[in-house]
Amino acid sequence: GVSKNVQELEKVSEKPDSGGSRILVFVRVRPMAKKEKEAGSRCCVKIVNRRDLYLTEFANENDYLRLKRLRGRHFTFNASFPDNATQQEVYSTTIADLVEAVLQGRNGSVFCYGATGAGKTYTMLGTVENPGVMVLAIKDLFNKIRQRSSDGNHTVHLSYLEVYNETVRDLLSPGRPLVLREDKQGMVAAGLTQYRAYSTDEVMAMLQQGNQNRTTEPTRANETSSRSHAILQVVVEYRVKDAGMNVVKRVGKLSLIDLAGSERALATDQRTLRSLEGANINRSLLALSSCINALVEGKKHIPFRNSKLTQLLKDSLGGACNTVMIANISPSNLSFGETQNTLHWADRAKEIRTKACEASEELQQQVPESETDKAKLLLELQKE
Ligand code: ADP
Ligand code: MG
Repeated sequence: GVSKNVQELEKVSEKPDSGGSRILVFVRVRPMAKKEKEAGSRCCVKIVNRRDLYLTEFANENDYLRLKRLRGRHFTFNASFPDNATQQEVYSTTIADLVEAVLQGRNGSVFCYGATGAGKTYTMLGTVENPGVMVLAIKDLFNKIRQRSSDGNHTVHLSYLEVYNETVRDLLSPGRPLVLREDKQGMVAAGLTQYRAYSTDEVMAMLQQGNQNRTTEPTRANETSSRSHAILQVVVEYRVKDAGMNVVKRVGKLSLIDLAGSERALATDQRTLRSLEGANINRSLLALSSCINALVEGKKHIPFRNSKLTQLLKDSLGGACNTVMIANISPSNLSFGETQNTLHWADRAKEIRTKACEASEELQQQVPESETDKAKLLLELQKE
């Protein structure tokens, strides 16, 4: 049902002159929190048919149809998820297609955006009982690979990193900050752990551990800092023999990004930049918003270089990549301003087009192998 509707929606919204593909934008509303209930808050978000989303400022705004006439209060996205949507449903509608594309040697990226407490980490990582889209994507990936094991040899490598205070850290192997450099594949963090993954269970445990390595604020030792961006990169390599017994390699990359709380960008924008930390978080999220603006306006120069985050997201936003944005919001009227801000950016992101997403020829390179390497590889392929 839902994903079919999304496809239909896409067809309608696709302009005929489309030079690339649009970013798909989804919104997820989380359930009302206990604290919000206790504070006597009211739900200010209404979703109709998983499509139309209305934001209501006043308690007496019950006539949602009337709201259609109010500018800036009615939104349509590729889909909107109400608070009872399951992790599986969010996964199937938003990301399942990307996983398929990555297996074909294309790039995909998904990022969660929204204020602190809006449900980004829940959506991405989830809990042990309700694993989030990072885990569901990897589970799906392994299932698909198993179904195709006779076609060739797939390997899956993971890396999990954090951008905090303009410093890049390896979440799988905490230690010294990593240096970014550009290579043929795009921007890479030198020395980042590339973890070869074999099963979903081990990945789940690893991600939970990695998440515990995210930076916490000294004053709230157990809580992940709202200024921390986490990026999971899943690289799928596929090797297959062609008719002439040459080994052909194809590489697809899926990036899943749990962004820092977006409220910081707003707050620090209006004040003078007092601390370095404040300035830096401001820098990453402001850089992201200026890149989105420049992309929407079709500017030639996109200021990706302005922050570590945008350097890392360069190929996700401006390259040959299928990109999905999930905006997370609270249903409570106490968060009205933040929700409005999140929906504003989500609405703007709908206009971004990435370059055409065909699997690029460069990636289908022939791998020059030495005779022994080739023999080893053939053995490996036969084992599958
Ligand atoms: P963020 O990462 O955006 O700061 P979290 O993902 O940590 O926010 O969510 C804040 C709280 O709300 C957490 O306790 C989380 O478990 C809960 N939560 C968020 N989204 C959902 C959801 N869809 N269903 C149930 N609980 C949720
Ligand atoms: Mg979080």
